[in-house]
Amino acid sequence: MNEKIQNMITELGKACRAENVTLSLAAYDQVGEGKLVQNGTNPRIELVISKQIEQWEKVLKMCDCLACRMRATVLEEEDQELENQLDDFNEFTEKLEAFFRGDLT
Ligand SMILES: [Zn+2]
Repeated sequence: MNEKIQNMITELGKACRAENVTLSLAAYDQVGEGKLVQNGTNPRIELVISKQIEQWEKVLKMCDCLACRMRATVLEEEDQELENQLDDFNEFTEKLEAFFRGDLT
């Protein structure tokens, strides 16, 4: 990968670390060579990554090409599946609470 870009990423990483700024950055060129920098506590890095995913999903849904539409459909199905699992879990927890209250019929 371009040396200038690599140096800029290294410098950015150092500057962020010095200022206690959370950073999660990955840059890869066409041949798959690249650099990845992460600074900060694990929870803050997770927050930063989730913001990146949010942004990526937004851009993905705006694109009209077949590949992006297919990916967006898969994402929606995965979200739905997760929601269903959460519903099932909540239903189970409610039943369990009712059982311990003693009003399960
Ligand atoms: Zn696309």
